Amino acid sequence: FPIIRAQNSPDFVPDAKFYKVEAILRPWRIQQVSSALLKMGIRGVTVSDVRGFGAQGGLTERQAGSEFSEDTFVAKVKMEIVVSKDQVEGVIAKIIEEARTGEIGDGKIFLTPISDVIRVRTGERGEKAERMMGGHADISSALSTS
Ligand code: ATP
Ligand code: GLN
Repeated sequence: FPIIRAQNSPDFVPDAKFYKVEAILRPWRIQQVSSALLKMGIRGVTVSDVRGFGAQGGLTERQAGSEFSEDTFVAKVKMEIVVSKDQVEGVIAKIIEEARTGEIGDGKIFLTPISDVIRVRTGERGEKAERMMGGHADISSALSTS
């Protein structure tokens, strides 16, 4: 699987059953991203209004422009999505497809291994807690058995 690389590789990603995909995106693209994710059965998504600035991008490319100035934080939305390992690359590809404009400030995606998932209502842990009714796993298993 693409995200698992040898432990001695500089690109090593710790192995886990679940990962958190954390995307900092343009607010006006969020609707488009979340409806595309919903269509592929990704139903567990957390969003927060955040403000931030990128390392250098906006500053050099758009001096005193609308996207960035030294003392101005730009409004972004942070999307946090915990998914099983086999869903990570699909989710990342979908986010890029729907959120990308090609202009400075499109955002970033951070990937974090998640140790466990606990459903408060039931106390379920691990895969049982992470799975969602009618979720991506259900949809793809229905497709493969029909
Ligand atoms: P670009 O050059 O395309 O602008 P960038 O690296 O400057 O890329 P942005 O696209 O401006 O990144 O980042 C969008 C938002 O993502 C920022 O406003 C900030 O909230 C967040 N962000 C970017 N990089 C980081 C980082 N290393 N850590 C935390 N948040 C970040
Ligand atoms: N992996 C879950 C499932 O297939 C979905 C997770 C999510 O929607 N974030 O049911």
